[in-house]
Amino acid sequence: MIELISPLRMRFAPSPTGSLHVGGARTALFNVLLARRLGGTTVLRFEDTDETRSVPGSEEGLLADLAWLGLAFDEGPVTGGAYGPYRQSERLPIYMDVAARLTALGRAYRCYCTPEELETERRAQLAAGVKAPRYGGRCRTLEEGQRQGFEREGRPSVVRFAVEPGETVVHDLVHGDVRFDHHHLGDFVILKSNGWPTYNLAAAVDDATMDITLVMRADEHLPNTPAQLMILAALGLRPPRYAHVPLILNAEHQKLSKRHNTVGVGEFRAQGFLPQALVNYLAFLGWSPEGEREIFTFEELAAAFSLERIHHAPAVFDERRLRWMNRQYLQRLPRTEFERLLGEALSAADLLDIPSSDGAAAGAQRWLTTFVDAFGDGLETIADGVPIARELCAPVQALAPEQAQELRGDAVRAYLASVRRYVADVSTLHDLPLSHDLPKIAAEHGLKKRDAYRSLRIALTGHEHGAPLNLLFPLLGAARIEERLAASLQ
Ligand code: GLU
Repeated sequence: MIELISPLRMRFAPSPTGSLHVGGARTALFNVLLARRLGGTTVLRFEDTDETRSVPGSEEGLLADLAWLGLAFDEGPVTGGAYGPYRQSERLPIYMDVAARLTALGRAYRCYCTPEELETERRAQLAAGVKAPRYGGRCRTLEEGQRQGFEREGRPSVVRFAVEPGETVVHDLVHGDVRFDHHHLGDFVILKSNGWPTYNLAAAVDDATMDITLVMRADEHLPNTPAQLMILAALGLRPPRYAHVPLILNAEHQKLSKRHNTVGVGEFRAQGFLPQALVNYLAFLGWSPEGEREIFTFEELAAAFSLERIHHAPAVFDERRLRWMNRQYLQRLPRTEFERLLGEALSAADLLDIPSSDGAAAGAQRWLTTFVDAFGDGLETIADGVPIARELCAPVQALAPEQAQELRGDAVRAYLASVRRYVADVSTLHDLPLSHDLPKIAAEHGLKKRDAYRSLRIALTGHEHGAPLNLLFPLLGAARIEERLAASLQ
């Protein structure tokens, strides 16, 4: 059993640089699940100190995506809490104060090197065969006079942390002990020339001052952990424990990327995925419970979640699996909810009018119910219904030549003409005894039921297979059936 510091306080600390990515959503979910399991507190913190990367509107987007997933935090920029502010741009005096303390302690210093000087140094190291060039520490030993000279010149400066020789061992709760030799680190910047903190300073200071006891975040931050531990040690602050969760790779086993993969939670939402399905799927990206079961409610996930079962190896995001899982959830939805969601998607695509007059609304509702009877079972996402409905509502289309050829025989044409008359004669297309009437008409024209159905389906939809005809008829409606049969008989 892994020992944690109590009380357990965990945080999710996204940078508002765009919409919520599935990787971020997975990190948020793991934090919320573990805190729920162990009775801990969750904190949401916006890390917005990189002005060049912050995107206006991202905070609102992140909050909306988290809410859609059902991930709630006990403290945060909107909820408030005793450890605020929860937005780093509102905590600047804290970081400046810490940087001043570190400087007074001799653990940090002002660096006046210009970008050109740094670049020259970097090139010289590369030329000398150094693989990962680092800052050589030139300003660490500046004389007071030189320092004042630079200040008088008005040279911009940053504050760097003075790294001592040695190594830092991160006792990671997922990876075990990971050693980092300080030799590769160089004196890293903690305060930028505009007075804003770097990520490492702000994250380390906030974790400590917000009494965070367990930091669970993506693997890519493991190399940042030594710097954060050094800052905390220099300040005499208690570090949290760390658990770095595995990377998420795409089907090609490369890092998921915005450019090549669907990664935004909002994109999955727009594609008709259900939040419960996405949460269930994300929980299995880098973690698995005991046993074979895969469908878990949020509460069941929270009851089963444990640090011990987080994987070390990267997880692979398999969209086909997610679609499969979403279908499981769609099938478990109450029928009225399924119809409501599909109705919304179809209306948004202008494929379902739900007009205000009762009669027409009842017609639209009945259409929707029939649509779900016909196609609901095959849908993997709500949005999958849109192209199907679009095909049903589309104006008549020319058939592919091979299909047109199939409808050319005299018997088939006579059969289709009879069905056309039959449809014109009935008063409603709902609940017709088609399974009796259509084979009878087929027999009158010397056709086998199977062949007749196939031809009829091609004439009506352009496909050889599909929904049962007794559902397809009312979905198409008399006018479209007439139009499509007439076209196929030309
Ligand atoms: N703001 C960082 C990010 O979005 C989070 C780093 C952390 O969790 O420490 O990647």
